[in-house]
Amino acid sequence: MDIKVLHNIELKDYSYFKIGGKVENLYFPKNMEEFTYLLENIKNPLIFGGFSNVLFSSKGVNQDLICTTKFDEYEINDVCIKASAGVRGAVLSRACMEHSLTGFEFMSGFPGTVGGNIYMNASAHKQSISDTLLTVKAFDMNRKEIVELSKEDLNFDYRYSILQEKPYILLEADFKLKHGNKEEIEKQIKENREFRKLHQPQNLPNVGSIFRNPKNSSAGKLLDDIGAKNLKVGGAKVFENHANFIINYDNATSTDVLELMFMMYNKVKEKFGIELKPEVKYFGQKTEKEREICKILFQK
Ligand SMILES: Cc1cc2nc3c(=O)[nH]c(=O)nc-3n(C[C@H](O)[C@H](O)[C@H](O)COP(=O)(O)OP(=O)(O)OC[C@H]3O[C@@H](n4cnc5c(N)ncnc54)[C@H](O)[C@@H]3O)c2cc1C
Repeated sequence: MDIKVLHNIELKDYSYFKIGGKVENLYFPKNMEEFTYLLENIKNPLIFGGFSNVLFSSKGVNQDLICTTKFDEYEINDVCIKASAGVRGAVLSRACMEHSLTGFEFMSGFPGTVGGNIYMNASAHKQSISDTLLTVKAFDMNRKEIVELSKEDLNFDYRYSILQEKPYILLEADFKLKHGNKEEIEKQIKENREFRKLHQPQNLPNVGSIFRNPKNSSAGKLLDDIGAKNLKVGGAKVFENHANFIINYDNATSTDVLELMFMMYNKVKEKFGIELKPEVKYFGQKTEKEREICKILFQK
């Protein structure tokens, strides 16, 4: 099999945060056969799609990585869509608009893939990926076999799916959308994108919301109230237009970001007694300081 692999690459060249040290092997399977071959044969691989919700350690990662973005086939039959793990949500959003299908307008403005979006149960603008999902094919890493899971099996909740607990790697997904009016779908996509332009960083390295919203509250509002927009550590600072976004504005390290997150977490805890939980996922070799922060920030 002729599977694309890059050796000794810097993860900062791939991650949306532009942060991350070296990894020895980064694989890019382009179809189901190559992907499942890698999952069967590599010991403890880490799987990523768009790298848009991850913070990699500046000290690097000592596991092999598989990136799904070349495994990006999809087909549309009437209202039904089958998509491989690596298809970008924005690509599906556009294709569905062209077919006058409604349900994926929300995905046009952020860089996740089908696999990452289902893992995170991505949502925005009152739509979520779980709304239209029917079934998925996943690779069970323990039993080394393909399993089929229904929407109910995936146990979706806010920014949660069972993929975060079980050793399942998403291979492909089936969705059912609804017929809609093409002009209205296009208008909604435009509005969503305008909203993002106004409220979110443009062309600055970031990974979207850093913390999850606590129940009945907004992480952005709590962080605004503690003056987070003035906080920075090293090359990482809080975005001036939205207190729940961290920008890598000057060669930030993973430690800069984690220290800044810890500062934000502590200030909210002191003022409101609420412990914010990170939405971003952290991977790699931790420094001593990072280990201490992660023990508190990423506790269950
Ligand atoms: C500018 C910006 C705006 C954003 N806006 C939003 C928003 O509005 N709503 C929202 O929900 N998110 C948003 N995000 C965050 C991010 O895009 C989502 O979390 C997205 O779902 C991550 O997808 P990804 O493919 O990039 O996943 P990655 O970052 O590559 O991975 C994220 C997690 O998913 C796991 N994963 C990836 N693929 C698979 C697979 N095939 N099988 C099993 N596990 C897998 C990874 O191991 C990792 O734990 C935004 C990010 C940015 C940079």
